[in-house]
Amino acid sequence: MLGYLIDMDGVIYRGGHLIPGADRFINGLLRTETPFRFLTNNSQRTRRDVATRLQRLGIDVEEKHVYTCAMATARFLAHQKPGGTAFVIGEGGLLTALHENGYAIVDRDPDYVVVGEGRTISFEMVEAALKMVLAGAKLVATNLDPNCPTESGLRPGCGSTVAMLETASGVKAFSVGKPSPVMLRGARKDLGLNTDQTVVIGDTMETDILGGVQLGFKTILVLSGGTSRDDLHDYAYRPDKIVESVADLDLAKLEREFTPDEPLLTRPRLSMRERQLQP
Ligand SMILES: [Mg+2]
Repeated sequence: MLGYLIDMDGVIYRGGHLIPGADRFINGLLRTETPFRFLTNNSQRTRRDVATRLQRLGIDVEEKHVYTCAMATARFLAHQKPGGTAFVIGEGGLLTALHENGYAIVDRDPDYVVVGEGRTISFEMVEAALKMVLAGAKLVATNLDPNCPTESGLRPGCGSTVAMLETASGVKAFSVGKPSPVMLRGARKDLGLNTDQTVVIGDTMETDILGGVQLGFKTILVLSGGTSRDDLHDYAYRPDKIVESVADLDLAKLEREFTPDEPLLTRPRLSMRERQLQP
């Protein structure tokens, strides 16, 4: 049985609108009890916020189906330094995830400066974060996406804020979101599947497809978002499959296409005598 890690923006919806047929694809996953997670590099919303947003678009999913880079970052930090402290440039999704993983949010002497998306960032926050990094706090990015799509075009993303702090401090951030294996492996483990059974579906070569390729997952690029077929010439790696949108995907067909043939070594070995007796 395969399982799917599915990007949302450009795959399920674009702007505030559902991509035609995306609801049918997700309903197919639910009906066949195929394991899947929505994977987002947006740390602004909690998994409940994301699930509610999808429900309002007519997709009947639960919180457990959502895996955000905020969750991945908080789990990673809880593993690295249990019960630590963080100064956060970010919003509800990131703050909630850190609290849920035993972190305290502080405004001085943090173990980590953690950067996410948001609209509430101010120069004063960046200035405070810079001083903390220079004093020894570790710089962690929820993701390095340079910008985020909105209804009216692009806005600066988490990667832009991180770049400002990196330039000012001379310190390189550690990033957890796609294409980092930290997030992709975490989501795969959340599904309870192994590498051969995991398929990434996304519209961005630098995050979804690169992350999947690096971990040996199967990858499907959809052209319903930010990438066109002509863009593929710019990359040294390719997805396993390219479709116009998730509406073109057939679960039973994918299962046949992506399930590896039985490895030779597990076939019973025949003795010389048995081979002679074969028709
Ligand atoms: Mg996307």
